[in-house]
Amino acid sequence: MSNVPELLRVGDGFDLSAVDPAGTPGLPDHKIVRKDPKVWARAMLPQLGGELATQQEMLFANAKSNPRDMRRVLLVLQAMDCGGKDGTVKKVAGTMNPQGLHIVGFGPPTAAELRHDFLWRVRRALPKPGFVGVFNRSHYEDVLVARVRKLAPKRLWLSRYPQINDFEQELANAGVAMVKVMLHISFEEQRRRLLERLVDPAKFWKYNPADVDNRAYWHAYQEAYHDALTRCSSDHAPWYVVPADRKWYRDWAMAHLILDAFKGLKLQYPPADFDPQRERQRLEKGVSQREVLASPK
Ligand code: AMP
Ligand code: MG
Repeated sequence: MSNVPELLRVGDGFDLSAVDPAGTPGLPDHKIVRKDPKVWARAMLPQLGGELATQQEMLFANAKSNPRDMRRVLLVLQAMDCGGKDGTVKKVAGTMNPQGLHIVGFGPPTAAELRHDFLWRVRRALPKPGFVGVFNRSHYEDVLVARVRKLAPKRLWLSRYPQINDFEQELANAGVAMVKVMLHISFEEQRRRLLERLVDPAKFWKYNPADVDNRAYWHAYQEAYHDALTRCSSDHAPWYVVPADRKWYRDWAMAHLILDAFKGLKLQYPPADFDPQRERQRLEKGVSQREVLASPK
């Protein structure tokens, strides 16, 4: 198994400012990889995707055959603008069967959502047993943008860290295996990606003038991220920081993190609740096509 999860996990003494957004922790060091790590990592993705798809199918199959099996996976994606959340959904989550995915994006709360506490809309968006949920942004926005852009008073956002921890403990107890990831890009890489969105008309739709205003708050955001990561990383709901300036590393590392969460569930295909041998015989000896065609409608 890969050591990526261990290397990227937010543990004691973690310092976000010490993480290099262009780093490639855990990438093997043998000659083939060193020659062209990008080509190597890209070539690995279909294989990792195949493993993800198998794990997801087993998760789905278990929930279907046993209504008491509550297990599910929840991937929480957070990042600064242009951090690669959408790309991760497309490239990594996209390797799994869409039928077993439950993908939800969180924007500014609507008037209806604002009438409830901040976890209300999150609870409604949780994956059902057997599903892989993906949150494109999440309840963490309420201690990130809400804090940095002063959408909530300090005492309110401060009170949210313990609420989030209690909530995530509750989820773990209900069979939710969480993988929380901050895709970490640099200030310069964000500038490059925003520029790309401004020169290609096919990318205009992704651009939001407010993203440039947000760049003025970069340090405040990094501080808010650091606090969220360190206050809310636990054994049952760990945070990981994935260096994301290089998209090929991001996708490769993300696939490993999700696989690791699946492996923790020790999934197997559920046993048959019928006798396959007997069913085969029944099928072979059963009514022939000729008899069916001859039978009255
Ligand atoms: P995008 O991810 O580009 O679709 O943008 C979604 C926007 O919604 C971002 O600017 C987020 O900061 C904003 N957003 C998401 N959740 C919240 C929240 N709880 N409070 C305020 N803004 C939010
Ligand atoms: Mg955006």
